[in-house]
Amino acid sequence: WVAASVTKQHLPLAWFSGENAAPWTPRFDVVVVGGGHAGTEAAAAAARCGSQTLLLTHRADTIGQMSCNPSFGGIGKGHLMREVDALDGLCSRICDQSGVHYKVLNRRKGPAVWGLRAQIDRKLYKQNMQKEILNTPLLTVQEGAVEDLILTEPEPEHTGKCRVSGVVLVDGSTVYAESVILTTGTFLRGMIVIGLEMHPAGRLGDQPSIGLAQTLEKLGFVVGRLKTGTPPRIAKESINFSILNKQTPDNPSIPFSFIHKTVWIEPEDQLPCYLTHTNPRVDEIILENLHLNSHVKETTRGPRYCPSIESKVLRFPNRLHQVWLEPEGLDSDLIYPQGLSVTLPAELQEKMITCIRGLEKAQVVQPGYGVQYDYLDPRQITPSLETHLVQRLFFAGQINGTTGYEEAAAQGVIAGINASLRVRQRPPFIISRTEGYIGVLIDDLTTLGTSEPYRMFTSRAEFRLSLRPDNADSRLTLRGYKEAGCVSQERYERASWMKSSLEEGISVLKSIEFSSSKWKKLIPEASISINKSLPLRALDVLKYEEVNTEMLAKAVPEPLKKYSECRELAERLKIEATYESVLFHQQQEIKEVQRDEALQLPEDLDYLTLRDVSLSYEVREKLQFSRPQTIGAAGRIPGVTPAAIVNLLRFVKTTH
Ligand code: FAD
Repeated sequence: WVAASVTKQHLPLAWFSGENAAPWTPRFDVVVVGGGHAGTEAAAAAARCGSQTLLLTHRADTIGQMSCNPSFGGIGKGHLMREVDALDGLCSRICDQSGVHYKVLNRRKGPAVWGLRAQIDRKLYKQNMQKEILNTPLLTVQEGAVEDLILTEPEPEHTGKCRVSGVVLVDGSTVYAESVILTTGTFLRGMIVIGLEMHPAGRLGDQPSIGLAQTLEKLGFVVGRLKTGTPPRIAKESINFSILNKQTPDNPSIPFSFIHKTVWIEPEDQLPCYLTHTNPRVDEIILENLHLNSHVKETTRGPRYCPSIESKVLRFPNRLHQVWLEPEGLDSDLIYPQGLSVTLPAELQEKMITCIRGLEKAQVVQPGYGVQYDYLDPRQITPSLETHLVQRLFFAGQINGTTGYEEAAAQGVIAGINASLRVRQRPPFIISRTEGYIGVLIDDLTTLGTSEPYRMFTSRAEFRLSLRPDNADSRLTLRGYKEAGCVSQERYERASWMKSSLEEGISVLKSIEFSSSKWKKLIPEASISINKSLPLRALDVLKYEEVNTEMLAKAVPEPLKKYSECRELAERLKIEATYESVLFHQQQEIKEVQRDEALQLPEDLDYLTLRDVSLSYEVREKLQFSRPQTIGAAGRIPGVTPAAIVNLLRFVKTTH
């Protein structure tokens, strides 16, 4: 597959060949810069919404590249994937076509916090993603490095803000666009580190993005610096798996996408993972060689929840740390040692690894390395991911200080939708904290900012019993279809059917009542406690752990049989029953939060000069920087006191 042959069909040859003297200047509705996890979702979402979209990226053959771990999903991250899928995004479907080991995490806890996760075949994922991107109507792909932005003069009617109107490539050529989305990941002034060696790169083998970083800084964006790292890759044949703990995949596999009943590969054909541990000798090698490890000494922040082995040894000395040996793909000869992200000089990496059980003869095929990069303080963007400073310029993905493919994909889909809506002058598509993990992610970033790579967890969501992976379609698909136009007709119909079937099923289950002794006779295997005075609803019986919808349907075939015939509907009814009583209370809390969120703050408020409202200078500065869009968001900014919120509320109510 050659990107050029595909893109040539869409673009005039003169421009495609990169000649400056193109007879005309290309113009798109939306230009997306970067073909990583945020960029692919953003480009596909903008195109699904009906915008002529251009995906501009350094190299077409790295579109969809998984820079680090060969896995998708996990606790909180699996929720994000379900929500991306509910908006017809790509990553969940592609993972169902490329996984090699599917396993749900947190199974012992309730389904609200299950973490859908899979090991993914890197090569297949990239191939499938590139196929999908190149077959997306209205989407053109072009290779090129974006160096600069084209801006229009500030327009007074738009509070003096300037507007982006295109991008400039490294060869000087230009592309005009109504909206531009930057998804440049770890590439802005990216610097790779191994031992004491450092060289400029976005990731191993890729150029950094320096001109664009300078442009953003010149424009006045607040830029910070973060770091992350990746483990070495080990030759599979050099590992002694026979002495290690083996983890087998789930049977059956649970797909990521709502539109898939199964994944592409049977559980018995999937690959195992293996578990081993570090030991005191590993600690010694790391501690003896700290002077040769500049990434560790660097004071910029790394990912707290995915730390390097050096940080773990320094923070938790004398502990054995887990190392999961994960397959990189079905026909790959490489193993990814998860937990061993390291930046020691290459020869010391092998010395350290061969101290570990099962890895005594391990051969390192590619050394681990660290990367340091610029990110933009995400308090400079709105919940639609548009920047406060430049109109129609959007940021999504690791550029906003997040880490992880799923966090990037989630922002990508929202930026793509909103960039397209902006072109059509339609209201933004915003997901609140009460509606989805995507809302939690974006609200955390835009109101609190981040000083270390931000990763999603279920504990970040206040309403996690409502925001479950099983019901992401009911929460988002209908909105995505009606308000954004990013969802296909087929998916919309499916989600609508499921939502109405669930509502109908719950009300039928509430309407069937028998005494507990009758239920005991109907379902003898259930441990229903006998209470003679009260009738028991079928919905209450379904709450018993050992009861499922199929058992109820056998006991009361009419009218319950039809709800047991679709396996997914039957399973979802069981989950709804499990959470029914707690959800009732949570809905009241959600309504309270939604009342605060409905109180919009005027976009043009100048908090620094605002009269007639009592706010400390510190609070004014914080509000001016973050520019919260609602009273709810203002209240979540650290340092904005409840008293300040009351004053602000009074001011807004009396003056607007
Ligand atoms: P990326 O996937 O990085 O994609 C950026 C894209 O933009 C690339 O296609 C690039 O070519 C393109 N691009 C950049 N600048 C330009 C330009 N000027 N013009 C045109 N194209 C441009 N995540 C974890 O969750 N855990 C980890 O342990 C972890 N470790 C990592 C280690 C390393 C070494 C790296 C590089 C990443 C790591 N990540 C980790 C992060 C994970 O890879 C990212 O979070 C995710 O890929 C971000 O997606 P993105 O789309 O924002 O950016």
